[in-house]
Amino acid sequence: MQITGEMVIGQSIVRGTASTVRAIDPSKNAPIEPEFGLAGNAEVETACALAEQAFDTYRETTLEQRAVFLETIADNIVALGSTLIERAMAETGLPQARLEGERGRTVGQLKLFAKVVRDGNFLDATIDSALPDRAPLPRPDLRLRKIALGPVAVFGASNFPLAFSVAGGDTASALAAGCPVIVKAHGAHLGTSELVGKAVQKAVADCKLPEGTFSMLFGDGRNIGQRLVGSPTIKAVGFTGSRAGGVALMHTAAARAEPIPVYAEMSSINPVFVLPGALKAGGAALAQGFVDSLTMGVGQFCTNPGLVIGLISDDFATFTAAAATALQAKGAGTMLTPGIHKAYTGGIERLNGIEGVRLLSQGQANGIGCAAQAALYECDAAAYLSTPALEEEIFGPCSLIVRCKDQAEMLQVAKHVEGQLTATVHAVAADSAIAGALLPTLERKAGRILFNAYPTGVEVCHAMVHGGPFPATSDSRSTSVGASAIDRFLRPVCYQNVPSDLLPQALQDANPLNLARLVDGTLLQAPAK
Ligand code: NAP
Repeated sequence: MQITGEMVIGQSIVRGTASTVRAIDPSKNAPIEPEFGLAGNAEVETACALAEQAFDTYRETTLEQRAVFLETIADNIVALGSTLIERAMAETGLPQARLEGERGRTVGQLKLFAKVVRDGNFLDATIDSALPDRAPLPRPDLRLRKIALGPVAVFGASNFPLAFSVAGGDTASALAAGCPVIVKAHGAHLGTSELVGKAVQKAVADCKLPEGTFSMLFGDGRNIGQRLVGSPTIKAVGFTGSRAGGVALMHTAAARAEPIPVYAEMSSINPVFVLPGALKAGGAALAQGFVDSLTMGVGQFCTNPGLVIGLISDDFATFTAAAATALQAKGAGTMLTPGIHKAYTGGIERLNGIEGVRLLSQGQANGIGCAAQAALYECDAAAYLSTPALEEEIFGPCSLIVRCKDQAEMLQVAKHVEGQLTATVHAVAADSAIAGALLPTLERKAGRILFNAYPTGVEVCHAMVHGGPFPATSDSRSTSVGASAIDRFLRPVCYQNVPSDLLPQALQDANPLNLARLVDGTLLQAPAK
């Protein structure tokens, strides 16, 4: 498939006329062909009108139809073959193996949601039967199911050009819920987005769904992204990116005549607590594992370990020295965009200017393109606790080691950090008391708590939570990875005394969808097929 610089609006391929832009190869900081036409307001309106037209038909497709649609998207992405991987490599600087792995993850997510849809448990079908003889008042017949919220705007992430982008987790979960999707493609991977957008468009046609089920626009976030979120058609937003961008969209969504939910994943520094027993048992190995996690993917993961906390001791000093040495061996890696590279070097400059923060070591330098040099810093807990700037995420391979004089100070640091996607504890049995004391605080701070592991690497499964209190996300009640991500795009409707022939299938007495249902307070499993 050829990349033409055109957008997907329903079943049309459209060249935006508002302005033009080229993708950038970050390894050379040089533009790549072709020229992409950016959307103006008219294209936003057309995509929204089509999504609105599609919604009522799409949301009532059968579970099987929707599952097949998700699987068809997955097949169409695989069918793009090496064209997709080569273009993504050129636009992101990410290596082939990583992108092939990410394609596998993207396809896996789509298939997971196909299974979630087929199972039907996400509908939360619930029946409370009428109790006409109840005194003093009879109970009516009450039935609940979840329905799709409406058309969803998705802002793909720069750091996952496939798995968190055009057909990534937000799109897959919104489509699974029954919501049409309009993607605002990320400027960091325009050609990749076009290829995947066309694969989704083809799946819409293959499955004979209404054309407005999916559109994808190129354009400036502050212009057409804002316009999209302001459109009365849009009923929810999925976003992964900067805190500033996520907060701007939250404000826009809240200021609408009809405010809507924004599920923004933004900023997290992912604290790692290394406890004394674990350090004694193997501090050098912990240090190597930490540095590997920190520098993986040039540190461009939302779960990157940007903060390490330990108690001042010889063992912690040994860990720190080993981490500093391990970091020096790490080569410079190309960052995703000139903007992200500039933000990283700016963050390093900021850290260098903060009193009480010491540079421990740096990775290897390479002045070419958007190459980033890893960096490791250290400070005392007192400096950390009194310097708000140290809370800010530096997106990239940079971390800060915080030295605490005692357990109380370590707890103080845990209480001080902002909301996080993850919090990690390295502990052995001898650390049980301090780990137990930390745990209640970490529960209040993070969406996922790990023991004796590293936070990078997010499993796509039913139990995963990739979320957390602000600023990790805009809504700590949700996850953007894993099966539960579908809940963000659903809302419950209760049907009271609705005649049986008008009830949705999920709630009919005969249970034609064969669902597990909560009936009069008892969970009844799906009848065996
Ligand atoms: P970004 O600047 O927030 O951009 C993300 C998307 O949101 C882009 O499509 C962007 O469009 C749009 N956008 C940004 N500001 C907007 C606004 N005010 N109104 C409407 N749309 C807006 O993030 P990025 O370019 O991906 O990376 C920049 C920084 O984000 C990184 O340095 C890092 O700190 C953070 N980041 C965090 C994660 C995470 O997982 N937590 C992932 C990636 C990045 P335009 O590009 O057209 O403006």
